[in-house]
Amino acid sequence: MPTIPLIDVAAGNGELQREIEAAIHEVVADGRFVGGPVVEAFERAFAAFCSTRHAIGVANGTDALEIGLGSLGIGAGDEVIVPALTFAATAEAVCNVGAQPVIVDVRPDDYTLDPDLAETAITSRTAAMIAVHLYGQTADLGKLGAVAERHELALVEDAAQAHGAEWNGRPVGSVGSVGCFSFYPSKNLGAMGDAGIVVTSDGVVARRARALRHHGQTERDHHELVGRSSRLDAFQAAVLAVKLDHLAQWNESRRALAARYTSGLVGLDGISAPAVRLGADHVYHLYVIRVHSDPPEDRRVELQRYLAERGIESRVHYPAALHLLPAFEGLEAESGAPIAERLGREVLSLPMYPQLSADDVDRVCEAIRRFCAEASPAAGELSKPSAASS
Ligand SMILES: *Cc1c(COP(=O)(O)O)cnc(C)c1O
Repeated sequence: MPTIPLIDVAAGNGELQREIEAAIHEVVADGRFVGGPVVEAFERAFAAFCSTRHAIGVANGTDALEIGLGSLGIGAGDEVIVPALTFAATAEAVCNVGAQPVIVDVRPDDYTLDPDLAETAITSRTAAMIAVHLYGQTADLGKLGAVAERHELALVEDAAQAHGAEWNGRPVGSVGSVGCFSFYPSKNLGAMGDAGIVVTSDGVVARRARALRHHGQTERDHHELVGRSSRLDAFQAAVLAVKLDHLAQWNESRRALAARYTSGLVGLDGISAPAVRLGADHVYHLYVIRVHSDPPEDRRVELQRYLAERGIESRVHYPAALHLLPAFEGLEAESGAPIAERLGREVLSLPMYPQLSADDVDRVCEAIRRFCAEASPAAGELSKPSAASS
């Protein structure tokens, strides 16, 4: 049986190979490789896609967060609230602008930043909160927006996993003060290398972001800020422009596959399919189940091994809550983050990409059903040791 990969980047690019090659050849002929008309055209297209006035292409998603935070004036002396379950880059960006991350727990149902706990973690130094649309599900931008407004904080969206998701009919990235995206190849919209973008409708913030990515220049040889070199190159912009036209359809495909998984996993003991919060949207960057287990038992490791033996890849996003990583030790809010810690032991990502076949989803579900069926009689025997030994 062929292996079912966790993700197949080549499958998505293969569908569009001719268009992508033609777009790349145009850049070669044009000769403007950093900035220039191809980059500007993609920035306009992505701003329109997000319903924002501005989009500023940068070198990667982490830079998008750093430049987004920097363009809001966040830096030394500021605290920024981040969710405990996310990719490390969310907190790394905060540290890299000189601010301090305050790690707050996520909610047990949708795994995104808990607005109530975030509010209790606010101090006089808090300048912003970063809402991460984890795995592709929109964070609770309604409640987080209300908290931000009450305390006059900036709300930054880390939308690196949620290109094309909507909140109340508004595209992610357009709800907060700034939206930050990564186009790392495996994201829902992926480049053929590193790339990222900052979106905002605030002209002042956009102007600062443009300056920050380009050595602080607001015009040639006028360095108004201390910036950096973090530009989007024209090859990546050309590829992204081709792929952007297909993003909505690819997200639809992800949703259909997710629905198939969820119905295929219904009623399994100790396995939870992802829940979509009422009013939230989900574009399934990852399809993440929970494998309930209490230490020292580790059913997740057993399931991963079982799937691997049957040619099915799986991975853990993410095994450790941020504050359990050496880099961010001791930075959790007073309330701690027990939910993120537990999720770190229980989450498991199953194969998900738009070209994944329905048959492959069925094969994965069937394998998990067998795993559960084989596990329960064994558990039954183990609970009667005296009968077995006498
Ligand atoms: C991928 C990702 C980033 C970082 O993007 P890079 O392009 O790899 O720098 C930031 N936040 C989240 C949630 C991500 O998934």
